Amino acid sequence: MKRVLSGIRATGRLHLGNYLGAVLGMLELQERNDLETLYMVADLHTLTTPYDKNELKNNVRNVVLDYLAAGLDPLKSTIFIQSQVPEHTELFYLFSTVVSLARMMHLPTYKDKLKQYPNASTVALLNYPVLMAADILIYKASLVPVGIDQEPHLEVSREIARKMNEIYKTDFPEPIRFATKGEYVPSLTGEGKMSKSVEGSYINLTDDLETIKKRLAGAPTDSGVGKKIPETGGVANLLKFVELFEDIEKRKKYELSYLSDGIKYSELKEELADAIYKKLLPIQEKRKQFEEDPREVDGIIKEGAEKARKIAGDTLKEIKEKMGLL
Ligand code: AMP
Repeated sequence: MKRVLSGIRATGRLHLGNYLGAVLGMLELQERNDLETLYMVADLHTLTTPYDKNELKNNVRNVVLDYLAAGLDPLKSTIFIQSQVPEHTELFYLFSTVVSLARMMHLPTYKDKLKQYPNASTVALLNYPVLMAADILIYKASLVPVGIDQEPHLEVSREIARKMNEIYKTDFPEPIRFATKGEYVPSLTGEGKMSKSVEGSYINLTDDLETIKKRLAGAPTDSGVGKKIPETGGVANLLKFVELFEDIEKRKKYELSYLSDGIKYSELKEELADAIYKKLLPIQEKRKQFEEDPREVDGIIKEGAEKARKIAGDTLKEIKEKMGLL
């Protein structure tokens, strides 16, 4: 059976970008009978940029709760925490022997992160894509539901798979991205993507209606009329959200207004806030149930690690043998 692997870093609560770009794909794939799905909290990847060690445990738990609340089902998917499957890091080291330093240093994602965190130039940050390749390939997963920002990293995974297969005659698949319609969720600030590290850019899955309204209120707009529908910036992004959370018809209606009598952004934002909250409410209610049952959540995490370690251990043994280690 083909396998699926995905993960999210434990940097705080999940936002709409994580949900639309990654979690919706994870949910769709867990329903398929021809696939085995494994979803992790990428706590080791969290250490590659500045983090608060006193908050990490809590943040890891919050991602698990957000996963379960969003509908990841431990009966259908293996849900686990990356650092509890140490085989990932061992395979990562073995993979690092076939990756050139130059390739890693020229990755645009690495350069972007360095720009964002100039003091975080560590070997771990440089190695992020190699660990990600190990995360995926230790399960020989061929499908990876993640946002489009992860594409350069998946390319590295494919290169590593090819190299390993060529040199050591392994049988790693070349993993491809499973894309959702929200593969790129823009920032509420009108610039770039929605991201936890940019204040004012995101809406969290746990936000109440008031907070959603407040966050949308901060999104930049214009006079509401023009000869051409904006393709970038605040208004373009608001229209994208209308499409994602209401529907394409609604978007077309606003576009017509923009070209004729004008959009009233206060009304657009009010309606959009209601539409977003309506989608989030069932997730928030489900989250409460899991929050009230910490033992069940502990059990899910423990069982997830056991299941994942079994598969990971088999792959690691095979690769070590093929590399001449055992
Ligand atoms: P990260 O928080 O960087 O670990 O990202 C976790 C997952 O969410 C990855 O699959 C990302 O591609 C996805 N993701 C994060 N931000 C966005 C966004 N703004 N739009 C679409 N997907 C996103």
